[in-house]
Amino acid sequence: VPLEVLEEMNKLEECFPRLSKNYRLMEKIGEGTFSTVYKAEALNGSIKLKSDLWKSPPLRNGKPSKKTGSKKNPIVALKQIYVTSSPSRIYNELNLLYMLSGSVHVAPLLDVLRFQDQVLAILPYYSHSDFRDFYRDLPVKGIKKYMWELFHALSFIHEKDVIHRDLKPTNFLYDPFKGKGLLVDFGLAEKAESTNNYKNINVCPCINKDRSSATKVYNKRMNFKAAYPKQDQRPPRRANRAGTRGFRAPEVLFKCTNQTTKLDIWSAGIIGLSFLTRKFPLFNSPDDTDALLELSLIFGLEKLQQSANIHGCGLEINLSEDITNTGNLIKVVADFLRYESENKGVPDDSVVHDTLSILNEKGDGIVKPTPSQASEDASFDELMDNYLDHKHLFQLLYGCFHMDPKKRLSANEILKLPFFSELVH
Ligand code: ADP
Ligand code: MG
Repeated sequence: VPLEVLEEMNKLEECFPRLSKNYRLMEKIGEGTFSTVYKAEALNGSIKLKSDLWKSPPLRNGKPSKKTGSKKNPIVALKQIYVTSSPSRIYNELNLLYMLSGSVHVAPLLDVLRFQDQVLAILPYYSHSDFRDFYRDLPVKGIKKYMWELFHALSFIHEKDVIHRDLKPTNFLYDPFKGKGLLVDFGLAEKAESTNNYKNINVCPCINKDRSSATKVYNKRMNFKAAYPKQDQRPPRRANRAGTRGFRAPEVLFKCTNQTTKLDIWSAGIIGLSFLTRKFPLFNSPDDTDALLELSLIFGLEKLQQSANIHGCGLEINLSEDITNTGNLIKVVADFLRYESENKGVPDDSVVHDTLSILNEKGDGIVKPTPSQASEDASFDELMDNYLDHKHLFQLLYGCFHMDPKKRLSANEILKLPFFSELVH
């Protein structure tokens, strides 16, 4: 453990008299804008873990170590929520964690320590791998398990009307060896009904800023004529736009005030697309209007404009039509497939062709691949199975990427798609 971190941990222990009595800080495992997370050992039976999940000993080279771990002290994650975040924000996070305890898909709140304005949330420590270490190599069966776990977690919280709002790989802890994953970080989460109340978190001060950007969003409501944002004296649209760049759904980017749990489904789709294209992060723009441009390169400008209309906005992008019209999901995926089949020596375009036909049908019918050069080779069959899986994955992504949140599938509907059929018992 680096010296600065040791010093930080010492300071924390001084701050919290009860901390050093019940916990031994081990190391720092995360640091963000609103919190720092430490790994710690719970001492003196201060924490009793109900679920076996938390008791299992750490994996060594993929195999459990010999000790059963039953006599070992539980390992916890200690989340120090900074005072810079408002008391109501801290309360919201703790309250939601408390409310969501009891599922294997959400890290349950075990305890909370407070000293003056400092708050520490105690959660079971969950061993997981960094997404960057496996998103390139996880085979499609592994992707399936990841997405299965992810949509189960979403199904659980959405049934309780909770929108996570910040779904991304660092907030979904996944262990590719165990095939288990769980959601953390409810710092931006909220109950779905309350989304119409403007909260004091991350409210965008103004969307109609004059930008050098080629992308413009304007508010169509309140009889918009030919005037452009520069002269627009109307108050800017305000809505919760909390989230992380690259994962925000179109309705969040358009500042729609009636946001629903479906915005998490979009973010889950972005994770799926990262797996499929083996690219992470997929999008980089820190700016909402530029993020719309990035989306139009993948989904096509027309779709984004339709989405703008649904939310009472207009969208204009002053770039050559070639760029915004040709860029679309089908092309991105087809390029990827061609690349994969070239690299794996798969004969041909038929795979690509079949896939495209599925995409064109918008995922309604599944065509079994009929390779022109059929082969008895088992590994070839396996490859074809993989491609069938890939097709089903596209179908899933289509469900996640409906521009209209009402048409976008729910987590429960997605779990019933053919992509997961082999996991349904
Ligand atoms: P932040 O609000 O700062 O993003 P998070 O709750 O997302 O805080 O935690 C930050 C990081 O700490 C996570 O990305 C993860 O790596 C680690 N972490 C959080 N909770 C746990 C846990 N229960 N077990 C293991 N690691 C955790
Ligand atoms: Mg986080």
